[in-house]
Amino acid sequence: MASRKAAATGPGTGLAAAANRERAHLELAELGPLLEEKGEQGAAGPPSAEDPPCPAAREEEEEVVRVLTLPLQAHHAMEKMEEFVYKVWEGRWRVIPYDVLPDWLKDNDYLLHGHRPPMPSFRACFKSIFRIHTETGNIWTHLLGFVLFLCLGILTMLRPNMYFMAPLQEKVVFGMFFLGAVLCLSFSWLFHTVYCHSEKVSRTFSKLDYSGIALLIMGSFVPWLYYSFYCSPQPRLIYLSIVCVLGISAIIVAQWDRFATPKHRQTRAGVFLGLGLSGVVPTMHFTIAEGFVKATTVGQMGWFFLMAVMYITGAGLYAARIPERFFPGKFDIWFQSHQIFHVLVVAAAFVHFYGVSNLQEFRYGLEGGCTDDSLL
Ligand SMILES: [Zn+2]
Repeated sequence: MASRKAAATGPGTGLAAAANRERAHLELAELGPLLEEKGEQGAAGPPSAEDPPCPAAREEEEEVVRVLTLPLQAHHAMEKMEEFVYKVWEGRWRVIPYDVLPDWLKDNDYLLHGHRPPMPSFRACFKSIFRIHTETGNIWTHLLGFVLFLCLGILTMLRPNMYFMAPLQEKVVFGMFFLGAVLCLSFSWLFHTVYCHSEKVSRTFSKLDYSGIALLIMGSFVPWLYYSFYCSPQPRLIYLSIVCVLGISAIIVAQWDRFATPKHRQTRAGVFLGLGLSGVVPTMHFTIAEGFVKATTVGQMGWFFLMAVMYITGAGLYAARIPERFFPGKFDIWFQSHQIFHVLVVAAAFVHFYGVSNLQEFRYGLEGGCTDDSLL
């Protein structure tokens, strides 16, 4: 750690200049040394002797220089780091442009300005929820979505049992959906909040974030399959098992370190799109067995179609980075593709909940009976 910082601080002249700067002024130039990339490390080693007389003497000289300067550099770097951490702790940081971000924070090069600097303090990260930067919209869209689904979930669980045919079973089924939604949305806002903490933290939370999407999709399938195939336990079990296997596979893929890199943006969109589109098979099954009219009325297919359109649009905008790709720098703070994707996810999950609630009501209206052979 110290050597990295020593390396990043560079040869002594910069230090003296840096030390003279005003302490209360957290300028980019000051953040710069902390943001320098790994590639620069080599350049900051011991100052090399210009024209070495002989290898042995040069080595000795280098050793002496290293012994003398490194601890000093490390000490200054440590002081600098402490000062930086202290300022971050106090909330005295400014947004910075994309160019000076460290590699691990470089995600979307169409967002030119307004990024948070790396802030290795959870307190600072959480305080940044109330500041304006590139992640503010991403945090709030899913923080509010989380509150919405938490409330909906609690209300559903507290609903009197008389409104259900098999209260315990049905509440577990709805519970799976709410658990998926609440976990997905909370992992998401947490990830966007601590994304700038450090490379390790950002990587860990991005894995949780992606796993959350898989959990939401899996959870969404549960009540839909439960009510759509109410009287056909066998296909219901088969479809449920398939979506669980696919969902767990997506979670495993999300643990792959390079999954979160900008290069694999399309892979990510593809994995979750594929998981969602696995719903096409049971949809076809239901529509063929019941006919188009019943599928759209009783089966609520219109709502589920709307939900699918929202998810697919969201994933498409996310993968293609629309609109910021057409106007780089114009959507740094608001209306960037990721925020639109977030809003569409919350809206789609809500539409899904509405459709599933209608399915539940319909089965309740039939008094849960499976006597009508024309219905799955
Ligand atoms: Zn997100």
